[in-house]
Amino acid sequence: MALVTASPHFVAAGRIPVLSASTSAGAAYGAALDAGGMGLVTEDLNIPQYYIAASLLGGMIHQIGLKRGLRTAGITALGTYLAQYFDNIDPTFRELAEAFQGHGILSVARRWSWTTDDEPKELRRGQITAVRGSAGQLAGWLMSPDYLASTATQTPRPKFTCKHCQFNNNEPDSNVCVNCGDDIW
Ligand SMILES: [Zn+2]
Repeated sequence: MALVTASPHFVAAGRIPVLSASTSAGAAYGAALDAGGMGLVTEDLNIPQYYIAASLLGGMIHQIGLKRGLRTAGITALGTYLAQYFDNIDPTFRELAEAFQGHGILSVARRWSWTTDDEPKELRRGQITAVRGSAGQLAGWLMSPDYLASTATQTPRPKFTCKHCQFNNNEPDSNVCVNCGDDIW
């Protein structure tokens, strides 16, 4: 048996920032892009709760930006995005959720694995599992196989096109265009 850290489903901790659910979506999205653009995990009171694919979060920021302005979309907390995503009555993110075929947000398993564990024979669908070292430090994550096999990871991230200079910003960055310094929208 291979160790959990040698699994093709293992992703090192440095590639997935863990951020409080109270973090603004704009800052969190920037942190996820800085870490390689895969995704991030939200936590409450130091308990990791949800994985959000970066491309899904970018799409959600884009949607809220269209509705309420990009500045508001950027400063709204991750937890508010999650609540709206899970609200079945709210149609705002329905199209996005369907495009991700349910893979855009995964719950974090309550139990974690140790770096010395063998790779589990079966991984839960729709979940990610923390992998911790002997001192309890986070070493990485085991991604559910259906997430890695899904096209969600290849969904293109939105561009935040500046209405003044038409520059394609990778992130909303407090609604400031990195090219001209004006409001993006
Ligand atoms: Zn601009």
